Order: sequence, then structure tokens, then C-alpha cells
Amino acid sequence: MRVTPQPVVAAGAADRAATRRVAREFESLLLNEVMKSMRRTVPESPLGEGLAGEIFTGMLDETFADALAGGAGLGLADLLAAQLTPENAAPPPAAIARALTDGEWVQPTTTPATPLSAAQRFGAYRPGNRPAACGAGHCGVDLGRPGGTPVVAAASGTVTGVGRDPGSESGLWVELSHENRKLTTRYLHLSHIAPELTPGSSVTAGEVVGEVGATGTTARGDHLHFEVSYRTPDGGRRWLDPAPYLPRWKAR
Ligand SMILES: [Zn+2]
Repeated sequence: MRVTPQPVVAAGAADRAATRRVAREFESLLLNEVMKSMRRTVPESPLGEGLAGEIFTGMLDETFADALAGGAGLGLADLLAAQLTPENAAPPPAAIARALTDGEWVQPTTTPATPLSAAQRFGAYRPGNRPAACGAGHCGVDLGRPGGTPVVAAASGTVTGVGRDPGSESGLWVELSHENRKLTTRYLHLSHIAPELTPGSSVTAGEVVGEVGATGTTARGDHLHFEVSYRTPDGGRRWLDPAPYLPRWKAR
């Protein structure tokens, strides 16, 4: 199958500033509406009845909302800006980027015909407590493929985890470590896992590890959630956006 490289749009400083401005305006509008409905629950306005009182109260609300959103605000503007800016991952160190482009990597499944939607991208909003490196929560990309499509090891390595509980958050999943544990890939929501896979077993690049599915409480429809993370010098782990690398890997 031929793969058309997908353009990777990195949000520049100007885009970020525009996103932030829109988010601030939205927060201001929202605060204004919240104050209006709060006032409706107050039986009697201390400013008196009648049109003059209403106009004055309205102006006060607007000024207050603008001031709040322009200043510290509720923090909603920051939250919104983060969710509207999908490419907020820091680039990986040069050695990691080199390892990911050494020619040994294979696309984990067949390439979807359509570009990733905002919700499928790395850093998209996901609820819950997520690593800060994953933007608004999504630590990987969601590749929408029909159930049963083979999923392969993106590189040679060792199996470091296998989850076989379809009722868990991630459903059936496989975790592999590569390049002497420098890099980790994860494959979530599978419908089937190759039965011979157990922690410690080795895999070669392109070897089938399972099939696309929709297992797990967080899966909405058949897709492969694919993650790449790397070890940091302090022993931690940092996730990166796999989207720019996928078109450079061998197609399935
Ligand atoms: Zn996902």
C-alpha cells in the first residue's frame, strides 16, 4: 500500500497567540452569562428595579467579566487554549529523533486514508490525570482502522507488558521496549493479542502483535491507539507525537 505523507502542522507563535485571544474572549463571554444567570436567582437587585438599574447591572457584569478574563481569570482561557492547540509536545532530544528515523521502523498498522482529526491527534483533550507532556491529555495518536486489521511491532525489541482485560480502561494492549529500553511503544484497544506474547519475549520489526479493535472503557469505535515514549536522563518517561515519524516509516 502506498502511503501519502501527511502534512504536519506545527502551531506557530502567531497561531498560539490567536488561539489564546479567542480563548480569553470566550472566557469573558462565559463569565458574563454566568453572572447574568446568577443575578436572575437573586430576588431583588440592590440597585433598584427598572431599566436604569438593569442597564447599569449589565454594564457592571460585562466590565467585571472582561477584567476577570483579561487578568488572572478562572484559568479557563489557558485550559481552552491548551485544548485548541494540538501540537504542544516538546521535540524529543536529537538522539531519540535519530533512533526513530534510522530506517528500522515500520508503521504499526495500515495508514488511514484520511488525515488525523483534531481529537485523534497527540495532545488532544482527554479527561483524567494525564502526564503534562501529553498536552491536554492524549499521549498517542488514534489510527482509525477496521476491526481485525493487523497491528505490528513498530521496531524490534522486547515485550515489557501485555494487558488482557477487555474491561480495563485500555482494553487489550501490548507494550514493547526498543533500543536497549531507550524507547517504548504501546498499542491499545486491540481485539486480539498474539497468544505467544508474554513479558520478556522478543519481537522483530513488522511482526504481528495483535489486531485493531475497540476494547477498553475509553475506546469509541475500532482504532489503534499508538504511543511512543522515551526515557529521560532522570529515569522518567516522556511521550512524543508519533505523527511526524509515521510517514517516514516503512508502510505496511
Ligand atoms: Zn488514543
